[in-house]
Amino acid sequence: MTDDRQLTPRPYIFDLDLPELTTLLQSWGEPGFRAKQIWQGLYQNWWSQPDEFTTLSKTLRQRLSDEIDFSHLRVVTELKSSDGETLKTLFYLPDDLPIETVRMRYDKRRTLCISTQAGCAMGCTFCATGQMGFLRNLSSGEIVEQVIYFARRLAAQDERVTNIVVMGMGEPLHNYQATLDAIRRLNHTDGMNLGARRFTVSTVGLVPQIRQLIEEDIQINLAISLHAADDELRASMLPVNHRYPIADLIAAVREYSRTTKRRVTFEWALIQQVNDTPEQAQKLAKLLQGMLAHVNLIPLNPTQGFTGEASSQIRAKRFQETLENQGIACTIRLRRGIDIQAGCGQLASRDNQDPTDSPAPIQ
Ligand code: SAH
Ligand code: SF4
Repeated sequence: MTDDRQLTPRPYIFDLDLPELTTLLQSWGEPGFRAKQIWQGLYQNWWSQPDEFTTLSKTLRQRLSDEIDFSHLRVVTELKSSDGETLKTLFYLPDDLPIETVRMRYDKRRTLCISTQAGCAMGCTFCATGQMGFLRNLSSGEIVEQVIYFARRLAAQDERVTNIVVMGMGEPLHNYQATLDAIRRLNHTDGMNLGARRFTVSTVGLVPQIRQLIEEDIQINLAISLHAADDELRASMLPVNHRYPIADLIAAVREYSRTTKRRVTFEWALIQQVNDTPEQAQKLAKLLQGMLAHVNLIPLNPTQGFTGEASSQIRAKRFQETLENQGIACTIRLRRGIDIQAGCGQLASRDNQDPTDSPAPIQ
């Protein structure tokens, strides 16, 4: 006889929005308000097991435990940077695929960098996740649970998550619905109630989805991974540029910025003698002229599958000055957590290649 439980996946608590949870509980004969009580336990009291839901009857706690998954994330490895300010966690999903989440402390900020896919289909040459290829989309709950995991740990130290950057593994706009659902759940006043402006979604530049985002009624920040200012160079680094060339991308971003009145961030991984030339800086300044924009210059994080090197400090500074002289706001970002491979996908791709080669866990 076949076991039904293997045929029908169990519902996963973080996948359910409030109406869905309400419907499920009503089908069990429970009043609708139980759903809000459960959300409060999950998103405000940071309870992780049905046992902890002391606001519910024992029978209901038992049923939740029997019929609903409360976690999809299994911690495999954790690494702390030498200054202790960056913590990176490698999780396994139920199907044993790896994803990573990074927590950064900076002054009063507690920022999480979360993943939306295991691997990525976009194939950017310099990116460790791109080098892994695409494994699968995360569900909205698997995106949410990364945040809840760290929110619980911070709460134990009387701290809170203040910002979320969707800049971990994967292309968020290639998993559009799950990403938006996760943000809305975390932003919901009955959920975690984290302000929309505290979220930043970074994209490689999927033009139709950027246009779709303009239509969403949500005040999140947008970051664009540009990295090159002409089509030939950009396509050689980011294959997606063949599909959505720079002119189309910039037109969509201009519309985003005009409509939402939000400042857009452009990311630029500085690669020595590749995209750190005065010509590239001039072309970039021209592209962004008159736009509400900010450029983040990030010296390349070296990865196994890419031979380029990070720009020297002098070249980075010169690039920055050229932009600033043209009136473009820009910052050189530190490579935080470089000693724990905190670059996008670097820990998981190592793990994928050779588990015996994984860095030693902390503690
Ligand atoms: N897929 C999305 C978000 C995840 S990548 C995107 O591409 O925007 C987050 C950022 O890290 C992107 O700007 C990406 O270009 C950058 N990145 C990837 N690999 C890098 C590396 N080796 N060094 C520096 N930045 C890198
Ligand atoms: Fe994917 Fe972003 Fe990496 Fe490109 S940089 S491969 S889009 S995760």
